[in-house]
Amino acid sequence: MQIKSIQAGKRYGDLWALRNITLTLPLGSPLLLLGPSGGGKSTLLRLLAGLETTDEGSIQVDGIPLPPDEPTLREYRRRLGFVFQEGNLFPHLTAEENITLPLRYAHHQSAAEAKERAQSLLSRFQLLPHAHKKPAELSGGQKQRIALARALGHQPEILFLDEPTSALDPEMTAEVLDALSDVQQEGRTLILATHATGFARRTGGTVAFLRNHQLEWLGPTAEFFAQPPTPGAAGYLARILRD
Ligand code: ADP
Ligand code: MG
Repeated sequence: MQIKSIQAGKRYGDLWALRNITLTLPLGSPLLLLGPSGGGKSTLLRLLAGLETTDEGSIQVDGIPLPPDEPTLREYRRRLGFVFQEGNLFPHLTAEENITLPLRYAHHQSAAEAKERAQSLLSRFQLLPHAHKKPAELSGGQKQRIALARALGHQPEILFLDEPTSALDPEMTAEVLDALSDVQQEGRTLILATHATGFARRTGGTVAFLRNHQLEWLGPTAEFFAQPPTPGAAGYLARILRD
């Protein structure tokens, strides 16, 4: 699946959250959305993922502009996986049920198929001992790994992650990033908005640096970190690395 953003923009009331974004998602290699808060990372991720519609330009999927109607967008989103800052697990379900429920009801798998898939993902992320716990009984890092397992359940073509570690302490952040490295190494396309610049640097791929509602720079991750390509990028990295 090839996804392109063509001069895409999004407006909230009178304010443009994002303007004139032209890029093609790399396949099989990560796209990292970096930049200061309020710069437009989440908005771009949501446009690319069909969670919001454009107010100018378009998002094209295999050469066809995504139409704004909800049934088509829903069909498109079923091919994708999502992890957000707060994993949004269902609080009344166990870890395993959080993974099996969407497989059964959104992806029409049998109970046995869904259970087998959940077990295999729980095992992959060292979560089997927690399969029957509810989110309130789990640490933040465990919850985010379950959110990651849930997002991978239906073998999404592209995985979108919006600051998946921003609510976690450093140790739990490392747990989640290790799991994510594992996912990246199998060649799944990741679109990741993050402030975890150490991880971004190791991950390689492409950086889209967003600032002031615009795509300020797009290019290889290695280049971005070797020499910050714009004064805005230099300022951003200096602030992040100071902490
Ligand atoms: P980032 O993820 O980089 O922090 P966002 O994409 O969330 O940036 O925000 C970009 C701009 O759009 C900001 O100015 C933000 O205030 C605005 N914005 C984002 N979402 C909304 C919304 N639902 N309603 C109004 N303004 C929004
Ligand atoms: Mg954001």
